[in-house]
Amino acid sequence: MRHYDSIKRVMVTGGAGFLGSHLCERLINDGHDVLCVDNFYTGRRANIAHLIDHANFEVMRHDVTFPLYVEVDEIYNMACPAAPIHYQFDPVATTKVSVHGAINMLGLAKRTKAKIFQASTSEVYGDPTVHPQKEDYWGNVNPIGLRSCYDEGKRCAETLFFDYRRQHNVVIKVARIFNTYGPRMHMNDGRVVSNFIVQALKGQDITIYGDGSQTRSFCYCDDLIEGFVHLMDTPDEVTGPMNLGNPDEFTIKQLAEIVVEMVGSGSKLIYKPLPSDDPKQRQPDISFAQTTLDGWSPEIQLKDGLQKTIEYFDDYLTNR
Ligand code: NAD
Ligand code: UDP
Repeated sequence: MRHYDSIKRVMVTGGAGFLGSHLCERLINDGHDVLCVDNFYTGRRANIAHLIDHANFEVMRHDVTFPLYVEVDEIYNMACPAAPIHYQFDPVATTKVSVHGAINMLGLAKRTKAKIFQASTSEVYGDPTVHPQKEDYWGNVNPIGLRSCYDEGKRCAETLFFDYRRQHNVVIKVARIFNTYGPRMHMNDGRVVSNFIVQALKGQDITIYGDGSQTRSFCYCDDLIEGFVHLMDTPDEVTGPMNLGNPDEFTIKQLAEIVVEMVGSGSKLIYKPLPSDDPKQRQPDISFAQTTLDGWSPEIQLKDGLQKTIEYFDDYLTNR
């Protein structure tokens, strides 16, 4: 049901991507008018095919590194390839989408007085020397490595957000997103959850990079999107940066074992070299989000989220 006094015109950049498409769906279900802006670099029409005929949904093919003039009330700035193989394919474009994209979207927010949300990342902490990571930790980032186009691009975007806040009074919400997974992840994006599930479903070997003792904390997409919407609804003085993710931490080897067991495949675990600058440990401290976001906390356990993701990839591999 639409509550006409609370309907907003919401723009989602990167709206055809994994997280963006879940966000568009959620905002439409909440009754908002949603403009999805995407250049389809890693996003896919299939991710939003079920939304296309909705009266409150519009798609625009546009590259956010170029200026955009539209009238909106809220902006979620999600545009940026997120998987290492995608963002390292054209690293200069990755820095541009983070930096030029942020400048263009912040300029739009300034002109329209829209509230703007930035999809930042746990990568701003680099290979952290503090564990778990809290928002006041400044990070341990290599400025010249293979991951730097993404990490430093996102760090510069955060700087721009806070300078537009201080200099131009733009209302900003900066979320630092930790590893998130779920249906509509790109099958070949090289991220660990999609890789392991697809390998297990195909009965292939599971490729563990390094010895598998590195850790990550995995959040199911629905829990994350709930956090986004709560953060956007906070009073203007709440700017973040705010960690969003699920603090339950697993080694990569544990994840591989769980996936193989759930899929019931005979896949073997094999070991490959660890990519450069691969963080050894990653776990969010989400106490700031939990105390600020009106009771928000991730609720979906890893095995439940993996089950839904396995079903998605099983269906995708069978029917595509
Ligand atoms: P994704 O690659 O599925 O989505 C990114 C979307 O941005 C795609 O639809 C892509 O086509 C679009 N895009 C890329 N460059 C663009 C440009 N120049 N102009 C317009 N659109 C462009 O990745 P995702 O996992 O959905 O990530 C979404 C956002 O969340 C990204 O900003 C990412 O950095 C951030 N994030 C994601 C995670 C995660 O675990 N999924 C973790 C931390 C941060
Ligand atoms: N990883 C792995 N096998 C794979 C893909 C990834 O062991 O097939 C490891 C990777 O080296 C990293 C972790 O899993 O230590 C998470 O990788 P991902 O690319 O998903 O995310 P990020 O490194 O950006 O957290």
